[in-house]
Amino acid sequence: MKDHHGRVIDYLRISLTDRCNFRCVYCMPEDGVCQIPHDEILRIEEIERLVRVAADLGIKSVRLTGGEPLVRKGVEDLVASITATPGIENVSMTTNGVLLPQMAKDLKAAGLDRVNISLDTLDAEQFRKITRVGKLEDTLAGIEAALEAGFNPVKINAVTVRSLEQDVLEFAKLSIDRPLHVRFIEFMPVGDSTSTGIDGQGWGKADVIPSDELIETINAQAEEAGIGGLIPAGKNPLGWGPAKYYQFEGAQGTVGFISPLSRHFCSSCNRLRLTADGKIRPCLFSDEEFDVRTPLRTQTDDEVRDVLLTALGAKPDEHHDKVGTERNMSQIGG
Ligand code: SAM
Ligand code: SF4
Repeated sequence: MKDHHGRVIDYLRISLTDRCNFRCVYCMPEDGVCQIPHDEILRIEEIERLVRVAADLGIKSVRLTGGEPLVRKGVEDLVASITATPGIENVSMTTNGVLLPQMAKDLKAAGLDRVNISLDTLDAEQFRKITRVGKLEDTLAGIEAALEAGFNPVKINAVTVRSLEQDVLEFAKLSIDRPLHVRFIEFMPVGDSTSTGIDGQGWGKADVIPSDELIETINAQAEEAGIGGLIPAGKNPLGWGPAKYYQFEGAQGTVGFISPLSRHFCSSCNRLRLTADGKIRPCLFSDEEFDVRTPLRTQTDDEVRDVLLTALGAKPDEHHDKVGTERNMSQIGG
């Protein structure tokens, strides 16, 4: 499946729910978001059907996200059925990790290939401040559970926000002794910029730490600590994805940098998104969406397919530094 800009689109990110057991400051307002009514959320069998049609069109990789995908009932069965869908080569998940201790083994057995765990700090108090309700030890236990269940790679995604003053070297060092792949992500202007963001201040450019600056900071701190700076990891060691990877000398894992703002990767964008309420979204930063719930509930596969192709045709060339979107990350599926 190619879009009008010649990009091959073979990756679908599916938000399983807009609900979450955290309330991260950069993702949603303190009192949560107005939740989508239950009957507007796609049912598991509707998601399965959409994946079948999408796979026929050339989608090869699926990522399950949210909200928190692990709070969605039936997620293990969904993983199993997506994995068994002809044409799907890869099923992955982005999670805050809290429910992995009880679910990691079953997810692995169901065929989940990879897991990305979101964690922004190793400081318990700061973790609470960022997630508003979460406990650091729960997410750390989730990381252990993912490693124990045999997931490889296990990637750790950290959003960096300047005013949070995260200890980035301490964080990058997670990649040294274990096969963990730490990725730093620039804080993105998604959602209503007046209600999300640090201390309710909303997204501000001043809070974005461009990846090049972050690499310099980590290298300077690493040299000072006698570890030696990051060295390019050569070819992207983990297959696909927009991150640039580095490594500390002799480390088991890698340190990656994802720069949606300072270094657009729109020209290599390969994805469509499905929101929990059944809209296909061609671009994270654009509010244009195409309803696929109605065709999934009342029409044939051909009509479902037409919506996917229309959304494909609407993929913009790039996000043109747009700030703010009507829906926030937990609703779109980050
Ligand atoms: N709840 C799951 C989790 O946190 O991994 C999955 C959904 S969450 C929306 C997916 C990813 O989006 C997380 O890694 C989160 O840190 C990231 N995210 C949310 N808001 C963001 C923002 N404004 N800028 C950059 N990343 C953001
Ligand atoms: Fe929940 Fe993930 Fe958003 Fe945090 S980033 S509030 S864990 S959906």
